[in-house]
Amino acid sequence: MTFAATVLTLYPEMFPGPLGVSLAGRALAEGKWSMDAVQLRDFAADKHRTVDDTPAGGGAGMVLRVDVLAKAVDFARGRSGSEILPELGSGRGTAAEGSGGGEGGVDAPPTPFGRSPSPSELGQDFRIPVIALTPRGKPLTQERVRELAAGPGVILLCGRFEGFDERIFEGRDVEEVSVGDIVLSGGECAALMLLDACIRLLPGVMGAALSGHEESFENGLLEYPHYTRPAEWEGRMIPEVLRSGDHAKIAEWRKRRSEDDTRLRRPDLWERHIGARVQSASGAQREVQDLKK
Ligand code: SAH
Repeated sequence: MTFAATVLTLYPEMFPGPLGVSLAGRALAEGKWSMDAVQLRDFAADKHRTVDDTPAGGGAGMVLRVDVLAKAVDFARGRSGSEILPELGSGRGTAAEGSGGGEGGVDAPPTPFGRSPSPSELGQDFRIPVIALTPRGKPLTQERVRELAAGPGVILLCGRFEGFDERIFEGRDVEEVSVGDIVLSGGECAALMLLDACIRLLPGVMGAALSGHEESFENGLLEYPHYTRPAEWEGRMIPEVLRSGDHAKIAEWRKRRSEDDTRLRRPDLWERHIGARVQSASGAQREVQDLKK
């Protein structure tokens, strides 16, 4: 299955942009993922193709209109739904837009307002996720990137101006994601960033299959530092242990640096890592106690 990226944006010409070169570009050319950038103005209702309006309550800037956003999301979802669901197959009925029901949706619970069941109601995510890029969103993590890369693709909604009318998020089950505690001028760079992180994880995209494994965040820690020739540069040496050829010692050094650097540079990650370790240790203890009973 090809990972399908749909980007809803006022600047479709920004795509694939940097994702058209290097690993992602080659993978795109080889059909390992697909890219469709859709102009938000195509969903405006007036002849001026207006997508924004002044903020309710006053203030500076403009806000993207919920009716325009909803039409764009429905369009993207409808299209990807019809492309992707047959591949998921299994006769469970479609979770695409439109009223649910039909014989296929045997275990889908009845839903109010005749809308289609949400992924959580189905218990499984048959729908392609729709993500709005916004600094108010949940910070993007490698864990979420891995989940997305394992799925059918993603629909990304890029903001501009002051951002989105808040009603779009609940109204269309749109996830809010931030790419960091910074403010960009638009969601496009954030969308490129999210896609880049997903694409490199797709099967067959990274040359050396293993190079994705020991990376920063994969085990909740920062990766250890790297060095390469020359052994001495401006009086600075590659650490002795890395030149020793002693693989056990090298592994030990890398583990320690990974832990030390995480503790010093990212106390937030370190706390979480320690918490997870304590939890899994106490879980293991409970299992031992259960076995003893
Ligand atoms: N007024 C908004 C910022 C709008 S910036 C606020 O203060 O929250 C314009 C657009 O850029 C946003 O709608 C969003 O799509 C994008 N953007 C800005 N910063 C971002 C971030 N950290 N993560 C993801 N998207 C961001």
